[in-house]
Amino acid sequence: MAYLLLKPDREKSLLRRHPWVFSGAIEKLVGSPAPGETIRVLNSHGQFLAHTAYSPHSQIRARVWSFDENATVDVDFLRGRIRQALARRATPGLVSVTNAVRLIHAESDNLPGLVVDRYGELLVMQSLTAGSEFWKETLADLLLEETGCKSVYERSDADVRELEGLPVINGWLRGGTSSPVQVTEYGLKFIVNVETGHKTGFYLDQRHNRFRVGQLSAGRDVLNCFCYTGGFSIHAAANGANSVLSVDSSADALALGAQNAALNGLEGGKLDWLEGDVFPLLRKFRDQARSFDLIILDPPKFAATASQAEKASRGYKDINRLAFKLLRPGGLLATFSCSGGIDAALFQKIVASAALDAGVDAVMLEHFSQASDHPVALHFPEGAYLKGLLCQRMD
Ligand code: SAH
Repeated sequence: MAYLLLKPDREKSLLRRHPWVFSGAIEKLVGSPAPGETIRVLNSHGQFLAHTAYSPHSQIRARVWSFDENATVDVDFLRGRIRQALARRATPGLVSVTNAVRLIHAESDNLPGLVVDRYGELLVMQSLTAGSEFWKETLADLLLEETGCKSVYERSDADVRELEGLPVINGWLRGGTSSPVQVTEYGLKFIVNVETGHKTGFYLDQRHNRFRVGQLSAGRDVLNCFCYTGGFSIHAAANGANSVLSVDSSADALALGAQNAALNGLEGGKLDWLEGDVFPLLRKFRDQARSFDLIILDPPKFAATASQAEKASRGYKDINRLAFKLLRPGGLLATFSCSGGIDAALFQKIVASAALDAGVDAVMLEHFSQASDHPVALHFPEGAYLKGLLCQRMD
């Protein structure tokens, strides 16, 4: 059986239960495993550390399936892991407000490389690594058996697949019911196009933040930047916002946003949809001396890794500085970052220095994070990617 032998003293992260083995820690590979095959990782003394999935093309050369030497990675093992993830989501009160749920959150659900979202009776699966790819057909069958759903759509089109040497795949893996699907979130309805939408179709991670921001919207003039299909906008309008201006660079996303408004009986005067680039638009609004009572900034990922953090920081600071300038006194800014390379402490510093540069006195009222169906394994801090702040302009 093939195995990876680590260099001396390179097992520390595995002993802390971190699930990745980087190529630099490896002394040698013994055997010639296929991509995604299960292989053991041993320390420099030849002692067992973990059963892992082998990724020959990635810097993350192996990902842990199990730290238990007696475990066998097979159908029953994967079924057990899926059941654990489903049981977690069934915790009373955790995600009862929606039928659109992340069922499996990769490393944090002890299933590296596998992301599964449920939209009503439809599953959307992302296989991101050689290991999840190796087991993909088995996983698809198990997911249908364990959830009772009839179809699985595969959205294996994330950039990270390239690092694994895997091609883009986008299509039905099982069944083939119609898409788009309609889901509900806190009583509001949304259309999700799993075939062409971003990620698996919807930003499920922002669910409770959309609700929270909605609660704060009554009577306010709202500017929703990077609105996608109008998640925050619909919550704001439904909660009595005075006006909601939603901006995105994607015409398709905006069209779906307008459909979502109609679906919730919110069409009409108070919702406007604007196609454009947020960066110049905020400058234009500043030059026109426009102002708002609530601004939402939920940009796409500017930095996937810490190495891109500096450039990303400038981007975040720019939009936050402009947003502070457009806020009326007493106005609220809900600002987010989903960049793995920018941690919560750095994000807070960026927002603080943006307020300083804008010449605005502001306080932080709340911290935001990803919804609880996107858990973070305690030994895998990389899983905590979404962070946000609710700030209020004082002067
Ligand atoms: N808040 C949304 C998710 C936002 S995702 C929700 O809750 O559903 C980020 C969005 O930013 C995407 O819709 C993308 O099309 C848009 N986008 C990316 N760069 C942009 C830019 N420079 N200007 C405007 N929109 C942009």
